[in-house]
Amino acid sequence: MPANISPSIPSPRSVADKSDKSALLAAIRMALQVESSAVRHNTQSFNRGRYAATSAIPDYETLKDKARAIKEDSLARLPELLAALEASVSRNGGHFHLAPTAADASRYVAEVCREAGVRLVVKGKSMTSEEIGLNRALDALGIQVVETDLAEFILQVADEQPSHIIAPAIHYSRERITALFKRSFRTDLPLATGEELTAFARGRLREKFLQADAGITGANFIAADSGTLVLVESEANIRMASLLPPLHIAIAGVEKIVPSRKDFGPFLELLAASATGQPMTSYTSVISPPLKAARVLADGGAAARQFHLVLVDNGRLNLRQDECLREALYCIRCGACLNSCANFQTVGGHAFGGETYSGGIGGTWESATRGLQNARFSELCTGCSRCVPQCPVRIDIPWLNTVLRQRLGQLDVGKRPAPNPLAPSADSGASLSRLFFARYDLLAKWGSRFPRSSNWIGRFAPARVLLELLVGVDRRRRLPLFANPTLVEASRQLRLDQPQARKDGSSRKAVLFADVFTNYGSVSRGLAALRVLHALGVDVVVSDAVADGRAALSQGMIATAARQAERTIAVLRPYLKEGRDVVVVEPSVLAMFRHDYRHLLKSGPAGELLQTLRERSFEATEYVGVVLQESQIDAAKVFPALRHPLGAKLFYHSHCQQKTMGCAAPTELLLRAAGFDVITSQVECCGMAGSFGYKKGFYELSLAVAEDLFAQVRKAENGGSRILVASGISCQEQLQAGLGRPVFHPLELLEEILKRGGIASAP
Ligand code: SF4
Ligand code: SF4
Repeated sequence: MPANISPSIPSPRSVADKSDKSALLAAIRMALQVESSAVRHNTQSFNRGRYAATSAIPDYETLKDKARAIKEDSLARLPELLAALEASVSRNGGHFHLAPTAADASRYVAEVCREAGVRLVVKGKSMTSEEIGLNRALDALGIQVVETDLAEFILQVADEQPSHIIAPAIHYSRERITALFKRSFRTDLPLATGEELTAFARGRLREKFLQADAGITGANFIAADSGTLVLVESEANIRMASLLPPLHIAIAGVEKIVPSRKDFGPFLELLAASATGQPMTSYTSVISPPLKAARVLADGGAAARQFHLVLVDNGRLNLRQDECLREALYCIRCGACLNSCANFQTVGGHAFGGETYSGGIGGTWESATRGLQNARFSELCTGCSRCVPQCPVRIDIPWLNTVLRQRLGQLDVGKRPAPNPLAPSADSGASLSRLFFARYDLLAKWGSRFPRSSNWIGRFAPARVLLELLVGVDRRRRLPLFANPTLVEASRQLRLDQPQARKDGSSRKAVLFADVFTNYGSVSRGLAALRVLHALGVDVVVSDAVADGRAALSQGMIATAARQAERTIAVLRPYLKEGRDVVVVEPSVLAMFRHDYRHLLKSGPAGELLQTLRERSFEATEYVGVVLQESQIDAAKVFPALRHPLGAKLFYHSHCQQKTMGCAAPTELLLRAAGFDVITSQVECCGMAGSFGYKKGFYELSLAVAEDLFAQVRKAENGGSRILVASGISCQEQLQAGLGRPVFHPLELLEEILKRGGIASAP
């Protein structure tokens, strides 16, 4: 059914400015009520296509490396390539303009159109023309602009801004488009199917192509040595806009330049697969305008063709100098990061987006082109990392958003954002709320010393109201309980903190890293890991508890996270030197070691040890799988699933960063090998994402994201209940909150089987 936007819900255009938090929250509310279901449906369809298409590319990872290398080289040589491109365009008979600002770009295009006597422009989809506000500039001259991309046409009729970089009307269901067309064009046609709607729009647009005085397009890639443009599209409207009118103006950011035509190859393959899930998009034009053939006029005469290439800087050259954010310029605008993002799937780009650019990558683009304050929506990036393996040019999108968060924090306290995120001053002046979440280690340490009172306070309604007011923890969330004894203390008491003498089993030596979340909260998970590893003969000890930096990083407190990373390395150094592997229970902490520490530990002794840590650290269940395989132990014999008191059927939800690191599949394999009947969740993220789901303002979004997961559990349990299993602590909390049942770590299942007579010598 068409959604009705009530007067109390702001329209998508009025929520475009999200430079303050309340506007962002209003946009989220609007999106959840009006746009969520269409965005979810459409992004998930894109995802299915992309997964199929990218898995059919035999050298996908190599291709990504090639594409990234071309972008790195092109941006490094940008001044030289700009000069070469200007010469190529002139040689071809076109005009070249490098616009320093959005206003200058619009002014130039408007001037060209005015001089050519243009009255009607047909326009292909171009995010850069949105960025420079071109339609407004042309409108001011009385020039009619007709958007010819179907989605852009819909938005022009609706007077809305795009909500996705490749599918601007992704927030529209077919029913809403039907209602919009019927209302706007006063037609009695049924317009009940996609075909009818498309035919209706085509009928209105076709005559415009024939009448237009100018066609304006973007450009996906531009070869500096020949002035050749690549125009990628699905509808052929760009082909018509660039070839039919006598005047063609192409507008693109300077980052679209590559050295030569031979560099197009990897991008064409990656863009089609990543964007629409096709081996090749329906229409790919490779042109070196202007066309030499004159345009035949209605009176039989001929008109020479004109071509202008407008390259837009508008903050890009500054972005190129930004050590932290530069890689956003490698973006080829495929939209894969938007589609693979659980938060984007739930609210779309009118909430998770700015005036022009949306999704995880959009924050950096808005910050570069319109100013940092316009990147406030990047707070919706939880850092889950699910977009990272989807990006065809390997952009570390969560890292960009972490840097933005740090800079926005500085802006909020009236400081000029420091370019070096590791400078100690970069974190100073953080709000109480950010400090609360970032220094959870302090809270947990003291909370577990006085567990009765701290846990009572955490459950006491007035205290929760106060917490909400003071630090922004949503009062509806149950806070995790603090444990006493902690993992380190309990392992000592149970003598699990030292090597166990075993003659048989694995020869591996390991240290279990006592991360903050496991040590002070989920002690049973840590103990389960210790017991299972001891039982398999692993010589395993327990580290001191230390903050690894994850909590601070998630608040954009990068300098604090870096200091904690240094301390963590100092704690782990003796174990690594002793030849021990590092076993981590909480996947988000392992992701720090394997992935995020490279941003925090650049040089010095800690930096030198980092490579060793990356190679020798394991997620706990992954490690059990490695040990079993090396020792040629049959999981079904050691951990026979049927011995589990709750049965052998389970529903498993892996943690987002665990999936990104490739540790989810080994866990599923191990559980299946033990004989469990496993149904796995098919969502990118549970919506909790560490502290995100606790925050006032994001609670509803967090639960809305989880709806898919809860629905999958209910569907899986149609044939009878299943044990709920999750590897991440925040996933466990989300599932428990939504389904009201206990949720176990995979190793807790194996430990329980041991207790019931698996390996008899399990301590
Ligand atoms: S890291 Fe996660 S939340 Fe952030 S943009 Fe990527 S997928 Fe979205
Ligand atoms: S950041 Fe990567 S995944 Fe996202 S749109 Fe750009 S190229 Fe595509």
